Amino acid sequence: MAGKKDRREAMVDYQVAARGVRDPHVLNAMREVPRERFVPEPLAEFAYEDTPLPIEAGQTISQPYIVALMLEAAEIQPEDRVLEIGVGSGYAAAVMSRIARRVHAIDRHEELTNLARSRMADLGYDNVVIRSGDGTQGWPENAPFDVILVAAGGPAVPEPLREQLALGGRLVIPVGDAGEQRLMRLTRIDEESFVEDDLGAVRFVPLVGAHGWTNAGRTATHGGGSEDERTVKVVAAHAEALPGIDHPDFAKFVDRFAGARIVLLGEASHGTSEFYRARAAITRRLVEGHGFTIVAVEADWPDAAAIDRHVRGRPTRAPEPPFQRFPTWMWRNEEVAAFIGWLRDHNAKREPVAQTGFYGLDLYNLTASIEAVLSYLDRVDPEAAGIARERYACLAPYGSDPASYGRMAISEGYARCEAAVIDQLRDLFGNARDYAASDGDDFLDAAQNARLIANAEAYYRAMFYGAAESWNLRDKHMAETLELLLAAKGESAKAVVWAHNSHIGDARATDMGRIRGELNLGQLCREAHGDRARLIGFGTHDGTVAAATDWGGAMEINQVKPSLPGSYERLFHDTEIERFFLDLREGVHPDLRSALRAERLERFIGVIYRSDTERWSHYANAALAKQYDGWIWFDHTEAVQALPAHSAQGEKDLFPSGQ
Ligand code: SAH
Repeated sequence: MAGKKDRREAMVDYQVAARGVRDPHVLNAMREVPRERFVPEPLAEFAYEDTPLPIEAGQTISQPYIVALMLEAAEIQPEDRVLEIGVGSGYAAAVMSRIARRVHAIDRHEELTNLARSRMADLGYDNVVIRSGDGTQGWPENAPFDVILVAAGGPAVPEPLREQLALGGRLVIPVGDAGEQRLMRLTRIDEESFVEDDLGAVRFVPLVGAHGWTNAGRTATHGGGSEDERTVKVVAAHAEALPGIDHPDFAKFVDRFAGARIVLLGEASHGTSEFYRARAAITRRLVEGHGFTIVAVEADWPDAAAIDRHVRGRPTRAPEPPFQRFPTWMWRNEEVAAFIGWLRDHNAKREPVAQTGFYGLDLYNLTASIEAVLSYLDRVDPEAAGIARERYACLAPYGSDPASYGRMAISEGYARCEAAVIDQLRDLFGNARDYAASDGDDFLDAAQNARLIANAEAYYRAMFYGAAESWNLRDKHMAETLELLLAAKGESAKAVVWAHNSHIGDARATDMGRIRGELNLGQLCREAHGDRARLIGFGTHDGTVAAATDWGGAMEINQVKPSLPGSYERLFHDTEIERFFLDLREGVHPDLRSALRAERLERFIGVIYRSDTERWSHYANAALAKQYDGWIWFDHTEAVQALPAHSAQGEKDLFPSGQ
C-alpha cells in the first residue's frame, strides 16, 4: 500500500488536476493537508478515495474534487480573509488556511466545531477561528470577507452573506432543492451589484438556518416515510412473483426478451448461489427456447476457452485447469459446474454450428493468453511462432505481477511492450484468411487472446493513471469481445452475458458514470444496440455471501447485513415478496419507472465484502429504472458452494476442465 503522502499526491494528480483544476495555490495546499486526519478513524483508509465520506453528526466531508472546484472558483489569494459556512470536518477550512491569511468558519453542530478546532490545533494551523451557530447569518463582527464559501445547499443565497462580502469578493454556494442544486459564484462588483456564474450541478447536505431551509427533514431525500411507503406499494403492485429457481416456470418471464440480440444478466455479488442458479435457469430458457448460442461471462478468456472446449466435446488445449487465480470461487463452484454439465449435454445432441459456446470477456489471465497464442502458432505457423515468442518475451518478467509492468512503464515514461503486442496482433489478423481456413474456432480463440494481450498491456499502464481509465479500458475490452463474438457467429446470433451489476447496469444512471467518469458494458451495449440489448439487474436484502476481506485473501462465508433504510434494497424488502421480477422497460409500467428513477443507494458486493464499512465500501447512488430493463429480487440469499481450487494429486477435479 502506498504511503499517505503518495496517496495524497495521487489524489491531487488524478482526481483534481486531471479534471482541470489548475490553481497552484489549491493544488499545493491539497498536497499539504493530511485529509485522513479529518475523517472518523475507521474511515481513514478511504480518505483519499474519490468520494465524500460520512463524518460525525450525520454530516459529510466533501469529495476532494468538489473542495478543489469550490476553492478554485473562489480565487483565494494569500492576503484574503475567508469565511466558511459549514466547517464540517474542517478539511476545506484547513486547505484554505494554507492559502489565505485568515479563515473564519462556522458550523451549526457543536460536536463538529469542537472536533475541527482540535484538529487545527494538532496540526498547528493557527490562523483558523471556528465557532458554532447559524452560518446563514454570517459573522458580522469580522466582516467584510474577500471569500465566503458555503459547504451546504440552501434554497437561495442568504442576504446577510451578500452583505458581508467585500467589494470584489467572491461567494461560492450551492443553491437549490436536494438533487437539483447548482454551484453558484457571486462576485461583488459594487455596493449594489453582483455577477453570477453557474458552475454546474452538485449535491450537498442542506443548509439549515434562518436564511436556509427550516429543518433537515424538508430536503432529506430518503427519510420521508410516506413517500417510501407509496413507492413500496407501486413496486408490490407490479412485482411478478417468481416460483422457486428449480421450478420449470421460474424463467418464463424472460420470454418477453426473446427478440433481443443481447440479454445481460447481472448479480449483486460475486458469491451468491441464487444469482448463479437464476442466471443458469434463464440462460437455459434463452438457449433452448429462443436460439441464443453465445454465453459470455465476466471471466478470463483463456479459462473460459477451456470450458468452451469441454462443453463442445473438443479435446483440451490448456496446460492448466482453468480458474486457478483469485477469486477461484467466482467460477469454481457447484452452481457453475452444474450449468456447464447441462450445456455439455445440450451441445452433445447438436451439430457444431448449432452448439452454444462459453466465452470469457475479461482480460486478467495474461500468462495463459500468451501461452495460448504461442501454442496456436506453434501448430499452424511455427515461423510466426518464433517471432511472437520474442515479442511476448517483453512482458515475461511481469507475468506473475502484471501491475508491476504498469508501474515500470509509468516511471520510465515509456510503454516498453506496447509496439510488440500491437505488431503481433496486426500480424495475426494479417494472416487471418490463411489461418482461419484451417480451423475458424481455433483462430477466433487465438485472435481474441492476442487482442486481450494488447488491451491488457494498456490496461496495466492505465491502472496508474487512475481508476476510471483502467475500468473504462476493461469494459471497452469486454464490449469489443462481445461484438466480435456476435460478428463471428453471424447476423442472427444472440448472446447472454453474465457479469456483475456494476458492469451491466447502465453507468450513466449511477455515481460511476456521473461522478467518476466511468462507462460500462451495459451502457456500451445500449449505445450500440438500443432496445435490442436488455439489461437485467439482481438484488438481495440479507443472507450469506462468499467473499474475501482483502484482494487475494481467502474466501470466507460472510453474513450480508440487512439492507440500509432508504436504499432500493430496503424498498424491495418492504414489499414482503420473497422473489420477484420487475419489468422496467419503457412504456410498460410508467408509474413503476417513475417511482424507481429517483437517486437512491444501491448495494454492490464484489469479490470483497467489508461489513464494518459497508455503507462506504458497497453502496453507491443510482437511479434503478434508468440502469436496468428488468430487476430480479431474492429477499434472502445464500453463499455459493465453492469447489476446491487445487485438487489433491490423483483426486478427480470436481470442476469440469476437459482435462
Ligand atoms: N467543508 C466541509 C463540508 C461539511 S458538510 C468538509 O469538507 O468537511 C456541510 C456542513 O454544513 C455540515 O457540517 C452542517 O452541519 C453544516 N451546516 C448546515 N447548515 C448550516 C448553517 N446554517 N450554519 C452552519 N453550518 C451549517
